[in-house]
Amino acid sequence: MSALADIGLIGLAVMGQNLIMNIADHGYDVVAYNRTTAKVDHFLANEAKGYKNIHGAHSIKELADKLKKPRRVIMLVKAGDAVDNFINQLLEHFEPGDIIIDGGNSNYVDSNRRYEELKQKGLLFVGSGVSGGEEGARYGPSLMPGGDERAWPHIKGIFQDIAAKADTGEPCCDWVGPAGSGHFVKMVHNGIEYGDMQIICEAYDLMRRVLDMSDSEMSDVFAKWNKGVLDSFLIEITRDVLKYNDADGKPMVEKIMDRAGQKGTGKWTAMNALDIGIPLTLIGEAVFARCLSSMKEERVAASKVLRGPSGANVKVHKEKFLSALESALYASKIISYVQGFQLFNEAAREFNWELNNAGIALMWRGGCIIRSVFLKNITNAFRQNPKLDSLLFDQFFIDAIHKADQGWRETNVTAFQAGVPIPCFSSALSWYDGYRSAKVPANLIQAQRDYFGAHTFRVLPEYASDTLPEGKDI
Ligand code: NAP
Repeated sequence: MSALADIGLIGLAVMGQNLIMNIADHGYDVVAYNRTTAKVDHFLANEAKGYKNIHGAHSIKELADKLKKPRRVIMLVKAGDAVDNFINQLLEHFEPGDIIIDGGNSNYVDSNRRYEELKQKGLLFVGSGVSGGEEGARYGPSLMPGGDERAWPHIKGIFQDIAAKADTGEPCCDWVGPAGSGHFVKMVHNGIEYGDMQIICEAYDLMRRVLDMSDSEMSDVFAKWNKGVLDSFLIEITRDVLKYNDADGKPMVEKIMDRAGQKGTGKWTAMNALDIGIPLTLIGEAVFARCLSSMKEERVAASKVLRGPSGANVKVHKEKFLSALESALYASKIISYVQGFQLFNEAAREFNWELNNAGIALMWRGGCIIRSVFLKNITNAFRQNPKLDSLLFDQFFIDAIHKADQGWRETNVTAFQAGVPIPCFSSALSWYDGYRSAKVPANLIQAQRDYFGAHTFRVLPEYASDTLPEGKDI
């Protein structure tokens, strides 16, 4: 290697290896390093064989010496201490102005701290969400970089070259905002993924329990929906999953234990929403639905003693119900994204971040699990009005939710009559009805709080007087 390389990458597990090859395919020179240095040699001799622009380093010093200035390095290592350890090692060899990028699944609170610590030392920290797994890393991930904005001009070219592209050809990578905002956005992305998956499951459950449809028939419905407003990666894979039969000809999905796992990012998103006071009800319910699914033995026992209506006893017109179901899915999805972007707006206020909402929707349009046609409408809404408080004040979404309203309500009513659980469809509708209510019953809560705890209350301006002052919120 004669000239210096464009960028370094630390961490030669599945994500790192694939991202290096993606970067190299776009014509950049990359230096690879890993804690266990034997993996560097193995990688160069195998996966990276034949790549003249992939180089190895066997120490952090060698990595630093092989990079152009300002140095740029991406870490793709296990989140937690490993990231801090590498930052400390890099600090010994990097100089002010050099750029350290954490592309792992770090908690945004850690990224906030790392951003501040590195800023004090004159180094530029970037915490970047990376989504799309192994395949995305190799051929185009969704990238969500945030942190020290002075780093952006130096990494923009590489990041936008290697990122997935939206249907418009735009890269699914833009600058998110300051400090740990890139990792915050990745966390919410994962939370939204929980919600999208749960509402699809609720539609599936209603089709099989109310309409008694076969998996193959349901697959055809998802195939049809995938040609309309619900067109998305998750609907597409649901179509394929439902069509897939085991060797005995039976649908594979029906043999899978109904107990969903979780790694915690959905929970973090919901906890964060509770912390900053945003009613992120759909994602919260999606997390709880997974928790309830885990109580398999208790559910089986309860199913033997607790009576309720059965889906089979509810009679509906099949085509009409399927159309209502599509509306319920679409409306609930809208509510989930409305809530997600409200969380971004509140987090921006709370942490004093300027967030690029249109860019965030664009970043999710390709390369990641929640990619969908619908995100284009969100990009458009925020491009028209970057300061939009709520997507439900955008005319496209106002019209869409009005159109879906009747089918969404019919779906909820049918599900309740049939005794089929719809935590996300129903909580989304309740949230919507609360959101569009100028008056909610919280006046009674305030009266109760004052009765037992002398918390006082505010009176409505039209009733304020000397004897009944407006008061203050407590
Ligand atoms: P991983 O299994 O999360 O981590 C393995 C890498 O971390 C190896 O390079 C390993 O080095 C290094 N490492 C682990 N503990 C270390 C320590 N204490 N000190 C130094 N290095 C340490 O790898 P991955 O699946 O490729 O993921 C990399 C990052 O991307 C993670 O943060 C992950 O959460 C995130 N991510 C993963 C996916 C995915 O689909 N896999 C998708 C998006 C984001 P050794 O070889 O020396 O053990």
